Amino acid sequence: MTPRSVVIVGAGQGGLQAAISLRQNGFDGSIILVGAEPGLPYQRPPLSKAYLQNGNADALTLRPQSFFASKEVTYLPETTVDRINRKAQEISVSGPEGARRLPYDHLILATGTRNLRPPIEGLDRACDLRCLTDAQILRDRLASPQRIAVIGGGFIGLEFAAVARKLGHEVDIIEAAPRLMARAVSPLMSEYFAALHREWGTRLHLGQPAVGVDEAGVTLADGTRIAANFVLLAAGVCPNAELASDAGLEVENGVKVNASLLTSDPAISALGDCASFPDVRTGQHVRLESVQAATDHARLIAARIAKVDTAEYAALPWFWSDQNDRKLQIAGFAGPDATEEAVSEGIVARFDAHGLAAVETVNSAGVHMKARRLLAGGKPVSLADLKEAVAA
Ligand SMILES: Cc1cc2nc3c(=O)[nH]c(=O)nc-3n(C[C@H](O)[C@H](O)[C@H](O)COP(=O)(O)OP(=O)(O)OC[C@H]3O[C@@H](n4cnc5c(N)ncnc54)[C@H](O)[C@@H]3O)c2cc1C
Repeated sequence: MTPRSVVIVGAGQGGLQAAISLRQNGFDGSIILVGAEPGLPYQRPPLSKAYLQNGNADALTLRPQSFFASKEVTYLPETTVDRINRKAQEISVSGPEGARRLPYDHLILATGTRNLRPPIEGLDRACDLRCLTDAQILRDRLASPQRIAVIGGGFIGLEFAAVARKLGHEVDIIEAAPRLMARAVSPLMSEYFAALHREWGTRLHLGQPAVGVDEAGVTLADGTRIAANFVLLAAGVCPNAELASDAGLEVENGVKVNASLLTSDPAISALGDCASFPDVRTGQHVRLESVQAATDHARLIAARIAKVDTAEYAALPWFWSDQNDRKLQIAGFAGPDATEEAVSEGIVARFDAHGLAAVETVNSAGVHMKARRLLAGGKPVSLADLKEAVAA
């Protein structure tokens, strides 16, 4: 039976996309989108990039207010879902209209992530960069000269550091791992970006975790002191999965879903940053933090609910990161054991037991798109296949 009421928890990139796609697929039941944040749903990627420089918050909005009236989507901002009662098929929410319960036929969990908080003394002195309010605070700080320490050399820390350097601030990056973006890219690409950031004037401190933050800066595990009057915490995230675990759903590095993106309860789906789903290439459960995964998950769930398509999830993952004038793009997804092969300047291929797993490019949108097509073909791809496609 097609559900008559869908409630979506989390009004970020994936939650909003689910509402959009449900209506695009002809779903005519009720849709309630519940989001803890104020204002209209917005995109996060520019928060560590263009927004820091232009301050244009309106440009982040994903859909205008009129969308919700015209598509009959009830949007409840500043409203938090506190509990799921699976037996009664209802959620408890609290917000401007007080505490109340909302029934659902189908529930979609799109709760995203929050910043990881490593055990660092004095960490409450550090700023976060997850939401628009955080970015507004950072933008204000960047208006006057700063000596900045960034804890975390992943995408967000590096993007922020690149903007801060461009604006003339002193920047140190502290990364506990021995290389930058270690979870996401090959050692070759880490090296490439480390050289760039050094060239742009940023000091890198690799292989030493931060252990303390105070008014004078950051202390590393080996006792090194990094002077800073402003510290950004960008040391990774953890999934907002407590609602699911409290409701007895299976949780393992996120809300665990099957290839149809259903949780262990067939009346509840999960998507995006909070969901751990089976990777079609390897069969292993993965959790990705990307706009692509959030929106493709949402489209699949909406098509299933509207009974338009019941295909299993097989979309190719892809990512991007803008650092100064370099656009890093990654087609596919490689695990930590993948090997690497330099294809040419700024192009690295990564392989695992199943063949080509991912292709990393810098300022090469054409090659990135070719790699996406190759990887999406569903057949194992060799280095020779890739080189041929790149040369074509
Ligand atoms: C600074 C920054 C830069 C980024 N840059 C890129 C990039 O360049 N490329 C890329 O692909 N991705 C990027 N990302 C990641 C991308 O934004 C996320 O992958 C994407 O937003 C995930 O969508 P989502 O719907 O899963 O979660 P989110 O968009 O994070 O939305 C989750 C929402 O759920 C709400 N919520 C949580 N719990 C509850 C509850 N109990 N009740 C009500 N609401 C709740 C949260 O408040 C939040 O608004 C970036 C992220 C950040 C923070």
